[in-house]
Amino acid sequence: MKTIALIAHDRCKSQMIEFARTHATMLAGCSLVATKTTGSLLIDEAKLTVRCMLSGPQGGDLQIGGLIAEGRIDAVIFLRDVLTAQPHEPDITALLRICDVHNVPVATNLATAEWVMRGIVMV
Ligand code: PGA
Repeated sequence: MKTIALIAHDRCKSQMIEFARTHATMLAGCSLVATKTTGSLLIDEAKLTVRCMLSGPQGGDLQIGGLIAEGRIDAVIFLRDVLTAQPHEPDITALLRICDVHNVPVATNLATAEWVMRGIVMV
């Protein structure tokens, strides 16, 4: 079973819910990890089972980064709000960096997220 990490900044959370609803069947067949608010929304609004870490600004991005470093994450869907300054920008940079260090696919917009989901079906 593939493990996918899902993170959405506040202004991208409605996009994430829509994405999760669209791919609900496939996502339900994966193990899901998310930052706290994103995960809570996915549980409530998309009826998915999600392991929630801390909220992003409280260290949730870093927790997910730790899982990536341990080889426990197969793909990351990270819908970023690049038009708003984030207080935890260093954590975001660290998360993206650790994806590259460990060659883990990371989608930072919906178009790439769609392709990541197609790739998960194929492997
Ligand atoms: P959240 O964290 O899901 O707890 O809102 C996301 C983030 O801002 O990194």
